[in-house]
Amino acid sequence: MTPGAPLTRRQAIVAAGGVLLAASAAGIPGIATAGRSRARVHVVGAGLAGLACAERLAAAGVDVRVWEARNRLGGRTLTDLQLAPDGWVECGGEFIDSEHAAMKRLCAAMGVGLQDLEALDMPGQPRDLVAGRVQRGEWASGADARLAARAARDLRTMGEARLDRLSAATWLARAITGWPSSAFARYRAALVRGEYGVDPAALSAAWLVTDLAEDARAAETGEGTERYRVDGGTVRLVSALESVIGSGRVTRGAQVTAITSSGGEVKLAVNAPGGRRVEVGDLVVVTLPPRVLADVDMRRSGVPRDVLRGIEKIGMGTNAKLIIPFARASWQRAGWSGDGTSDTAIGSTWQATMGQRADGVALTTLVGGAQGARIAGPDHGPATAASVDERLALVDRIAPGASDAARDGAVVHAWARDPFARGSYSAARPGQDDSWPDLARPYGLVHFAGEHADPDYSGYMEGAVRSGQRAARQVLARL
Ligand SMILES: Cc1cc2nc3c(=O)[nH]c(=O)nc-3n(C[C@H](O)[C@H](O)[C@H](O)COP(=O)(O)OP(=O)(O)OC[C@H]3O[C@@H](n4cnc5c(N)ncnc54)[C@H](O)[C@@H]3O)c2cc1C
Repeated sequence: MTPGAPLTRRQAIVAAGGVLLAASAAGIPGIATAGRSRARVHVVGAGLAGLACAERLAAAGVDVRVWEARNRLGGRTLTDLQLAPDGWVECGGEFIDSEHAAMKRLCAAMGVGLQDLEALDMPGQPRDLVAGRVQRGEWASGADARLAARAARDLRTMGEARLDRLSAATWLARAITGWPSSAFARYRAALVRGEYGVDPAALSAAWLVTDLAEDARAAETGEGTERYRVDGGTVRLVSALESVIGSGRVTRGAQVTAITSSGGEVKLAVNAPGGRRVEVGDLVVVTLPPRVLADVDMRRSGVPRDVLRGIEKIGMGTNAKLIIPFARASWQRAGWSGDGTSDTAIGSTWQATMGQRADGVALTTLVGGAQGARIAGPDHGPATAASVDERLALVDRIAPGASDAARDGAVVHAWARDPFARGSYSAARPGQDDSWPDLARPYGLVHFAGEHADPDYSGYMEGAVRSGQRAARQVLARL
């Protein structure tokens, strides 16, 4: 591997695993604390990456300061505690796979429980609404299995690098008879939009094919994808992390606008409560979502321009959730569990409040790609009456009469319009798997973390936590 050359996902995984070694040997230069008795480390952004990083640094006695632009912590995780009183509804990051070890470990360490969705007894069956028809039961299972087998074969014979040169749409067109108009094709395209947040033409085939092959393997070994949620909502994990870090070290409403490094120090320009100020430190961990980084002047940060450009170009999903409160799970009377995939405005659906003793329930509808980008309404707030009516009519097609129990107060969370996220999560464009910037290493005094900075679990809360903890290990090795 040539130093500085872009890494493939697999090479990057190996590199990330070797990070500590490199730091403590010769790879990452140590720092002299610039005239302070203790090193000061700034963390920009208080999503899960920033909080997981700060928790490790605080535990090691580092003088850590966290700067968060919003008036709340948690970033792209956001729990609504009002929509179904006494219950909780996730408006951003939600599900945790069985193999998301770092996320599960962090919850356990913070004393936060997990809700095991496989242990729930959910009445009703999944139904999909595609190509104008309600599809019941296991209608797609045979075609799904054939697609997974094709993915495993293509991964073996073509390899990730060749697949990366194709879009997911091109690969699906080769693998699915009747693409793009058959019911199965439309169902698969809707799944891509929901899972990756982008239309199939905007996704690297390497990502889709690797995941399909992996899902098939996980199904054989019984590992569940999307098996857990944080019991009580991700807000519980975020609050627990804040109290361990120390709320005095975390500043809300503090937008970092520039980062410079010179003379062995980093300087942050911060628009904070009380006015604009400059914060000085020894190292900085930047956890900003890729598109948001362009709002921060990093020209004199010591990070090469091509790395900054590479980050800003990372493909981002446009997932939006529109969540409708109901008095009761009225769809179950019609035999529908609430789970489904559709090529219409409802996209992927599930009961947001499953397994909870809430007053009422809520149904989440999730779309991505062009649908997610142009969903009506604000970034976070009340959904428009027209978009709710459109969705309730579709719900009624799947479970006749279900909309009778709908309550007022539906909300929309359009993450692509959120100025501090500018997207839902990263998803490689065609060709980007091979040219992803290497963010598992520092550039001068600047370390990167965030879901997009984890080579193995980008897109997930798991990637955010792993990258934050990796950055903390690197920082500690330097101090
Ligand atoms: C709709 C949706 C559904 C999802 N579903 C799942 C799921 O089921 N499972 C899963 O694992 N993941 C899911 N995710 C992804 C997951 O939520 C993210 O990968 C993860 O939360 C990202 O964490 P992060 O710390 O990297 O970034 P963020 O949470 O975005 O944190 C970055 C922080 O930086 C702050 N910030 C921005 N600009 C500035 C600035 N200039 N100065 C200071 N602070 C700034 C932001 O406000 C934010 O708090 C979902 C995301 C969305 C949006």
